[in-house]
Formats: sequence, structure tokens, C-alpha cells
Amino acid sequence: MFADLHLHTSFSDGTYTPEELVMHARRHGLGAVALTDHDTVEGCARMSAACQQQSLEFIPGSELTAELDGVELHLIGYFIDTKHPRLLEEMAKFQSVRQNRIREMVARLNKMNIPLEADAVFAIANCRSPGRPHVGRALVQAGICATLDEAFERFLKKHRPAWVPKFKISAVDAIALIHEAGGVAVLAHPGLNRSDDVIPLLVDAGMDGIECYHTKHTPSTCERYLTIAEECHLIVTGGSDCHGLNKGKPLIGTIKLPYSHVLELKSKASEIRRTHVTPRPFANPPVL
Ligand code: AMP
Ligand code: ZN
Ligand code: FE
Ligand code: FE
Repeated sequence: MFADLHLHTSFSDGTYTPEELVMHARRHGLGAVALTDHDTVEGCARMSAACQQQSLEFIPGSELTAELDGVELHLIGYFIDTKHPRLLEEMAKFQSVRQNRIREMVARLNKMNIPLEADAVFAIANCRSPGRPHVGRALVQAGICATLDEAFERFLKKHRPAWVPKFKISAVDAIALIHEAGGVAVLAHPGLNRSDDVIPLLVDAGMDGIECYHTKHTPSTCERYLTIAEECHLIVTGGSDCHGLNKGKPLIGTIKLPYSHVLELKSKASEIRRTHVTPRPFANPPVL
């Protein structure tokens, strides 16, 4: 049995609904999938129901944008309690930062005489956790850019004219938050973030795992992080980081992780539940 532990839906910047994503997962022969939308768990209930219907195993998750020593890092919390009050409270703050950032990006575009309205971006995003790809899609829809790539290249990439820095939770706090919500904290796509220097700090902060298998990791990048995982006693995860049809061909099916990695993730989640989580009344954690 194979797993894909890094997937996005239309509840953040993916284009597939949870139901569509699960259908594609099934077509690619996956037996277990994790939903890792940016700064939200809103898609998890529907994804879980769709998985149940298609006899796939579902792992709830979310990808938090965090920061350490000025480096942007993405930390995935797996098996988080999607109803955890403080997790939801913190995510609501991240979402509000994202919404304000969209307004600011649109304002910058307007200053360049590009007639885009924030509401057009919000209509395309149709979610609480909008991001730059939604601004990009709005620019394409308005005929200002031919492709999403062009939108990023001209306006949205770091230090381009419409790029706006974003407040990010410190990675140390993000790891603690994930643990508090009963989740396993995993560094996503380290090969894309120049994060090697901060990995020891993340390990000291209690990080549990590292995403070695990722569509954008070359075989040698993957090997490098497998070695680091072994040295630092981190569990190894992997996923396609599929965003649906954002970039032409969907990436789901490009990473097929052996199920043994899911078992390791589950056993780590049980350990975290025993050691980190204060029982709360009416808790409704996912069944491990
Ligand atoms: P944000 O979270 O708003 O900063 O947006 C980051 C997201 O933009 C990433 O998760 C990617 O999905 C997407 N992204 C980054 N670069 C590009 C690009 N060149 N083309 C399309 N999407 C991109
Ligand atoms: Zn994304
Ligand atoms: Fe990411
Ligand atoms: Fe992602």
C-alpha cells in the first residue's frame, strides 16, 4: 500500500475539492492520503468523509508557514486534532494575516495602474486561507498575465513589485502548537527552503520528522535528507505537494510512499498524545 502525505485542496491554494482529490488518489492506486492545506484544517472533514467512501485511509494535517533565523520554513502537523481550540484560534490569526496581505498585494498592483480588485481575488480563492496563487489566478483571469508562472515572475515572487512579506509564527512555537494539538511536526520540502543550517535548532525544538521525498527534490537532495533524518533520529515522510491543476499536470501520483512510513507516523502520534497532550473535555481526536 502507498501513501501521499502532502496534498492541497481548494480550502487553500489547490484547485481540486477534497472529493476530486480523493478520486484522483484512488485512480493512482494510493491507499492513504494526508491533507496538508496551508494554515487551515477546514477541508479535513470533507476529505475524511470522501476517503471513507472510497476506502482510503485519511490523515488530517496542515502546513504552517513558519520562520526561524529569517528563513521561511513550512512545518506540517500530521494527526492534529482538527477541533483543538487553540490550534483553531492560531489558524484564524494566520488566515486573517493572509487576507490582509491579499488586500496589500492588490493595492501595490493598483499603484502600478493594474486594475485588480481584492474582491476578485477573494471570489477566486473562495476560502479563508488565500495566498499568492489566488492573486496570480486573478491576474490571469483579468487577462493581465498569460500564465500563473508569468504572474509570479512579474509580480508575486519574493522582492517582485506586488510581493508583500507575511508575518510568520516562529518555527519553535509552531512545533509546540502542533504537539499541543496532538500532532507530529514535520519539516516540509527542506530542499526548497535553504533550511539545512536551522535543522539542528528545529530538532532541539522537538521536531519529529522531515519530508525527504518531494516532487521537487532531486535524488541527491532526497539522499541528503535521508542521511540527516538518520543522524537526527527523525521520521521520514514524503508527498507530491499536489495543488491540482495550478501548474498544468497535477502532481498527485508522482510520490508513492511505502505504507511503513505511515505506521511510523502513527506510532509517533501515539507517543505525542501520551507525552504532550493535556486531555481536554469533549476532545474529539482522530482515531489512530
Ligand atoms: P503564499 O503562501 O501566499 O506565500 O504562497 C505560496 C504558494 O505559492 C506556495 O505554496 C506555492 O503553492 C505557490 N507558488 C510559489 N511559487 C509559485 C510559482 N512560481 N508558480 C505558481 N505557484 C507558486
Ligand atoms: Zn500551496
Ligand atoms: Fe510548502
Ligand atoms: Fe504544500
